[in-house]
Amino acid sequence: MPLDADVAANLSDLRRRLRAAASRTGRDEGAVRLIAVSKTFGPDHVRAAIAAGQREFGENRVQEGLDKIAAISDPDLAWHLIGHLQSNKAKKAAAAFQWIHSIDSLELLRKVDAGAAEAGTRPKVLIQVDLAGETTKFGADQPAVAAIARAAVEARAVDLRGLMIVPPIPDVAESSRPWFRRLRELRDALIADGVPATHLTELSMGMSQDFDVAIEEGATMVRVGTAIFGRRPPAGA
Ligand SMILES: *Cc1c(COP(=O)(O)O)cnc(C)c1O
Repeated sequence: MPLDADVAANLSDLRRRLRAAASRTGRDEGAVRLIAVSKTFGPDHVRAAIAAGQREFGENRVQEGLDKIAAISDPDLAWHLIGHLQSNKAKKAAAAFQWIHSIDSLELLRKVDAGAAEAGTRPKVLIQVDLAGETTKFGADQPAVAAIARAAVEARAVDLRGLMIVPPIPDVAESSRPWFRRLRELRDALIADGVPATHLTELSMGMSQDFDVAIEEGATMVRVGTAIFGRRPPAGA
């Protein structure tokens, strides 16, 4: 199948599953936004998804994202940075991405906020949470999340919108459910502790393997790559 038809068929299949999962929790389809993760794929793949009605894209590396944003140059798209952000790239990211999902320290929050203030942008940000204590993974632990959330609410330029998680790689989709549930409970606990609920409306959780389960547990954003664009080349290949 040509690229456009392939991507369009995958997207329509995904939207059908997304609708089904949302309706199982009594929510409508609009309650869950689909972020098409285009990392490692070129502008042609992004354009194929745009042709099929997709408007939100996710990238995990700043420079690759900036190159694609410039190549596609479409003001109607929303670009999400979903991968680890190094402090020295905070300003570039704050200037170009509408959403940053990977705020995981106070230091990074302050760098992104300063960069956004300087660039005159107002990026929406999520705090990336590490509930599993995986040392190989990025993300803030629970006490740090509370401190980052309080600081983000007071920030000048960034707009705190919620929480994000990348759980341990699941054997089956169900293995992710406890992590998704705990992220939702953490969100509720932060609100109970006084973080305004209007700053915690989003839960970014669920990927190709487990997005149905994530939606059942309250995801408002799912980040899906493989199920739309196919397999990525292995890292380092
Ligand atoms: C690559 C990536 C995804 C998408 O993963 P798929 O399994 O291809 O759907 C989602 N979230 C993050 C943070 C990623 O790096």
